[in-house]
Amino acid sequence: MQLHLRNHPYRYECENLCRLFFPYSHVKVTDALSPAPGEPWAQALYETGVYTARVSDGERVVEKIHAQPTLEEYAMTDLLYGAFTELTGQTPAWGMLTGIHPVKLLRQYVEELGEDGGVKKFRTRCHVSAPRASLALRTLRAQGPTVSALSENDWALYISIPFCPTRCAYCSFISQDVKHAGKLMGPYFALLLEELKKTARITAALGLRLVSVYVGGGTPTTLSAGQLEELCGQVRGLFDMSCCTEFTVEAGRPDTITREKLMALKAGGVTRVSINPQTLSDEVLKNIGRLHTAQEVLDAFALARETGFTSINCDLIVGLPGDSLTGFERTLEGVLSLGAENVTMHSLALKRGARIEAEGGTGLHRCQEETAAMMDYSIRRLTEEGYMPYYLYRQTRMAGNLENTGWAKPGEVCRYNIYTMDECASVIACGAGGVTKLRDPYSDRLERIFNFKYPTEYISRHGEILERKDGVTRLYEQFRQRLH
Ligand code: SF4
Repeated sequence: MQLHLRNHPYRYECENLCRLFFPYSHVKVTDALSPAPGEPWAQALYETGVYTARVSDGERVVEKIHAQPTLEEYAMTDLLYGAFTELTGQTPAWGMLTGIHPVKLLRQYVEELGEDGGVKKFRTRCHVSAPRASLALRTLRAQGPTVSALSENDWALYISIPFCPTRCAYCSFISQDVKHAGKLMGPYFALLLEELKKTARITAALGLRLVSVYVGGGTPTTLSAGQLEELCGQVRGLFDMSCCTEFTVEAGRPDTITREKLMALKAGGVTRVSINPQTLSDEVLKNIGRLHTAQEVLDAFALARETGFTSINCDLIVGLPGDSLTGFERTLEGVLSLGAENVTMHSLALKRGARIEAEGGTGLHRCQEETAAMMDYSIRRLTEEGYMPYYLYRQTRMAGNLENTGWAKPGEVCRYNIYTMDECASVIACGAGGVTKLRDPYSDRLERIFNFKYPTEYISRHGEILERKDGVTRLYEQFRQRLH
C-alpha cells in the first residue's frame, strides 16, 4: 500500500499503523499518491495547525480532520488510527499499540496515575480492549515482586546457541541447521567459551551480581552431552553463582533431547528447561517442518521429569498452518495434563526470512478470528488451571495481531524473562545474535551492545566481539560517574 506523509516526522509510527490494518501489504512511503486500481493507500498530513488522515482500501475513502496548533505524534497517529478503524470496521485487541512492550507502557501510566487511572489511560488513549488491558494488568502485578527485588548491580547472562536440527518453516531467526552448519559448531563453541571468560572477568571487576543464566537459541540441546556438560561447568566455574538461583536451558525440540543430555544439564546445575511442543498435532508439526512427532514431545517431557527437572516450560503457538480451534484445544489440554510449570503462548509472527512467508504464507493465520479464539481459549484455561501471566510482548506481523505471553504456576516465574522483556535489569549476552542490554541503574536508560548475528561472522571476527565486551566496563563506569 502507498503511504503519503507531509510536514511531520512520524513516518515510523504511521507505517506501523498501516501494517496493523493491512498486515499483508508492503507499505511504500511515496512523495505523491499514485495507487494502482484497488490498491489500499493512506495519507497523514499536517498543515498549519490542521491534521488530515485519509485512508482507502482501494474502493472507499475515509477522511478525518483535526485542528491543533502544535505538532504532536499522538494527534497524528490517533487520527490515522480512527480513520483506519472506520474504513475497515476492525478494532484491534491492542488498539493502536504497535510497540513490543505494552506492559512497560502500562507500568508508566500506573506509576503516574495509580492502578485505576493508569488502566483507564491505557484503554482510552491507546484504544486497548478490556480483555487485553486486564491481561496486561495481571502481568504487571505478577512482575511486581521480581522487579522490586532487583538491586542495582544485578545482571543476567544470556548465552546463544544458534543451531537447530532443521529449520522450522516459520523461523526468521538466525539459527542454522546442523546439516549445513554442523562444521561451525566446534569452532563456535570454543570461541563462545572465550567470550564467557572475558565476560566473567569484566563483571567480577565491576562487582556485578549474577542472578540468572539463560541458554537459548536456536536449540541449545543441538550441542552434544559433552559440550553441554562443559558449558555448564564453565559457567559455574567462571561466574560467582552464589546469588544465581535460576539457570535455564532451552531444550526446545524433542528431536535433540536424550537422557544423557538431560543428565548433563541436571548435573551442571540447570534448574529449568524448556521442552517446546508448539503443537501436539503430528500433521501441523509436519506442516511447520518439524521432524518429530507429538509422542516424542510427551516422551521428552517424561524423561525430563525422570531426570529430576521440577521446572519445565512448554512453548505453544497459535495460528500455525493447518491448525484449527479444536486441534489447538486438544494441544493445550495435552500440555495442561503434563503439569508444566510454565506455558508460553506465542502468536505466529510471519517475519521476512521465514520459509513459510517466502512460499506465500500458505494462507495461514489469515483467519484472524480463529486465531484470536485459540488465544482466548488459552487465557481462559490457563487462568482456570491456576497459571498467571507474568511476561508479555508483541512482535510485528503477529497472527491476529495478538501477543506472546508467558504463564507460570504460583512461585514458578522465570525471572530472566521478566528482566529481558521488561528491560528492568541488565542482560549481558554472549554468542552470535546476542544483544547486551545494560540498564543504567540510576536512570531508565538502556544501552545496547550488539554481537554479530551469524555464526560465520562470529567466528571470523571474534576479536571484535571481545573488544565490544569492553563496552560493558565503559558504560558501567559512565553510569557510576553520572551518579557522583
Ligand atoms: S527451533 Fe526455533 S530457532 Fe530453531 S529453526 Fe525452529 S523456530 Fe527457528
